[in-house]
Amino acid sequence: MRVFIVHAHPEPKSFNGAMTQAAIEALTAAGHEVAVSDLYAMGFNAVSDRCNFTTTHDPHYYRQESEESYAAAHDGFSSDIQAEMDKLFWCDALILQFPLWWFGLPAILKGWVDRVFASGGKVYGNGKWFDRGVLAGKRAMCSTTIGGQSPMYSARGLSGPISTILFPINHGMLYFTGFTVVEPFIVYAPRRVSDEVRAAYLARYRDRMLGLATAPTISYPKLDDYDEQFVLKSPKAAESQLGHAPEGWRA
Ligand code: FAD
Repeated sequence: MRVFIVHAHPEPKSFNGAMTQAAIEALTAAGHEVAVSDLYAMGFNAVSDRCNFTTTHDPHYYRQESEESYAAAHDGFSSDIQAEMDKLFWCDALILQFPLWWFGLPAILKGWVDRVFASGGKVYGNGKWFDRGVLAGKRAMCSTTIGGQSPMYSARGLSGPISTILFPINHGMLYFTGFTVVEPFIVYAPRRVSDEVRAAYLARYRDRMLGLATAPTISYPKLDDYDEQFVLKSPKAAESQLGHAPEGWRA
């Protein structure tokens, strides 16, 4: 398996750093290929603008999707974006490794998505999205550390369910581009637990990496389950098909 880890933590000795190191060691020892984009170490530019392109479609008005479509047709992405796209198309599985910051991705990783997930049919668009997406057939997984304890992120917890917090990433970015989304690997409160618990988390993470091809996935409705206004035709039908209420769906 070819695994692409996009790592977003400014401190190499952090627990996030330990997780990425554990993943690299476990995967390579088992004969898998691994590519890592360590965004802080690379000094990755997270600001999406004209620097994304070597081509210009409209010099008077910057509309990113139009520039992306033009660049997709004219081989016009900047070398730093093209290098990330190459790894994205190369991999069988994408791992986003990050600490939860303000209920979402650290800005450097959000910027990576903003710049690399380009429209115009390159990574999405032209009818290629969700189960018909460009990246269909590949797996993707969030691997994240969270400051709070897990009860806080349960259905009745102060922060609300973690599945709701990760929905914009799992559904809005990963499933949107066609990935099959693996259940996230979550480490709660790594700073507050004992060395033994941290070691157990790392052991479980190695196992998850080695079982990536068969790890449980999140089932989302397919495009055919929606009407022309992208509203679920029948939430009940989707529920019986998925075995649970569609994630993000509200009665
Ligand atoms: P670290 O502090 O780097 O590591 C935790 C512990 O693991 C340390 O004691 C370290 O020494 C130890 N360790 C490192 N390597 C190993 C190893 N190999 N073996 C064993 N132990 C090891 N939290 C929330 O819950 N919700 C939020 O919305 C949120 N927003 C935030 C926004 C910002 C801007 C910031 C800075 C933090 C936020 N947090 C939030 C907290 C954040 O999620 C946690 O600080 C982060 O997840 C902790 O992960 P870390 O890798 O930085 O841990």
